[in-house]
Order: sequence, then C-alpha cells, then structure tokens
Amino acid sequence: MPFQSLGLMPELVRALSDKGYTEPTAIQKQAIPAILAGDDVLGGAQTGTGKTAAFTLPILQRLAETPNPKAKGPRVLILVPTRELAVQVHTSIREYGKHIRLRTAVMYGGASMNPQMMALGKGLDILVATPGRLIDHLERGTAQLHRVETLILDEADRMLDMGFLPAIKKILNQVPKQRQTLLFSATFDAPIKQLALQFMRNPVEVQV
Ligand code: AMP
Repeated sequence: MPFQSLGLMPELVRALSDKGYTEPTAIQKQAIPAILAGDDVLGGAQTGTGKTAAFTLPILQRLAETPNPKAKGPRVLILVPTRELAVQVHTSIREYGKHIRLRTAVMYGGASMNPQMMALGKGLDILVATPGRLIDHLERGTAQLHRVETLILDEADRMLDMGFLPAIKKILNQVPKQRQTLLFSATFDAPIKQLALQFMRNPVEVQV
C-alpha cells in the first residue's frame, strides 16, 4: 500500500521517496488517516515503529493546506521528554517537510534562551520542546500557546517517569480547549490513562 492511498499530498510523498520510504509502517497506516480526519489519537507504539512520521506527516499536511505565515503560533506543539528526542523529531520534521513552507523551532534545557526567544518572537508553525524549557518560556512571557491547534505528547510514559506531569498539566491548561490532541506512549499505566481521559476527546486508539 503506497503512501498516497493514506491521503498524503504529493509534496510529502516526494520527501518520503527521497528517503527511500515507499510503504507506510503499521502505526502509520492506522494513525495517519485518523489524524488527517482531525481525530484525537492515543497511540501505543515503541521507538522504531515509525511513530514520528505517523504524527508528523498529517500535521505537515494540515499546515500546508491552511498556511498562515503571519500567525505567531506555534500552531503545533510537540512535547518530548529529552533533548535528544527533541532534536530527532525536529530533524524528521525538516526532512519530511522539505517541500513545504514551514517555520519550526526546537527548544530544550541547557541551550541558551536568546535564539529560542527570537524564534518565538518571529512566529512559528511548529514548536518541538521539552516541558521544563517550555515552562521557562511561559513564565518569562516569551512563549504563548493560545494559537495551538494540535498538541502532541510523544513518549508520554517517559515524560511522566521523568517527573514532568505538573509541567505537562500546566501546559495543557494554557492551550485552547478546541484543539486536536495526540498522545504516543510505549506503555499505558494508570497515570497515562488518566491524562488521556482528562485531556483528550474520544480518542481513536491505535496500537502496534
Ligand atoms: P521512529 O519509530 O519514529 O523512531 O522511526 C524509526 C525509524 O524508521 C526512523 O529512522 C524512521 O526514519 C524510519 N521510518 C519511518 N517510517 C518509515 C517507513 N515508512 N519506511 C521505512 N522507514 C521508516
């Protein structure tokens, strides 16, 4: 089954074939149509399953179809547990989105605040951030989340293991209620289920 049949636009299919990807993985087959349809998605997937592309591709498509280059944004917020994952997810977005006009940034602790503040000031379509650093920006007033259309929690179980639950809740309370929420996790213990129940709307469950 080729990527086109999932409803992905030619600009994305081209970026995928540049990377040598011709067939969607199992999580991509399940998640991409649901995310394109605007549903909330609760995804059970480990690293290595292709989950990053599963949430990145439909998000890129939405942004390409509804460009808003003046919006300060971010329109899409992706929360990840670590700096390594932040960089990895951001790199994937740049690769998959190379034929689309996009403003993106990645922010994590330990890096200097200034370039991050400038990127936020200029306006962004997609922000990839670790929760602690995003809270820093929110407290300084350098980041605003009232334009977020899609919120993604990647490796949610690891974020909770690292003690990010209070930060995540604070962030969730600052994004618009009317939004799409995607949550990916390798495990689904009670705290994750509770988070999903509290902050998601009738999520489609996909599991690989
Ligand atoms: P992830 O689970 O998101 O960490 O992805 C695991 C690896 O699979 C990454 O190196 C991806 O670039 C790669 N990948 C993602 N989707 C596909 C695909 N459809 N075909 C082949 N490789 C893929």
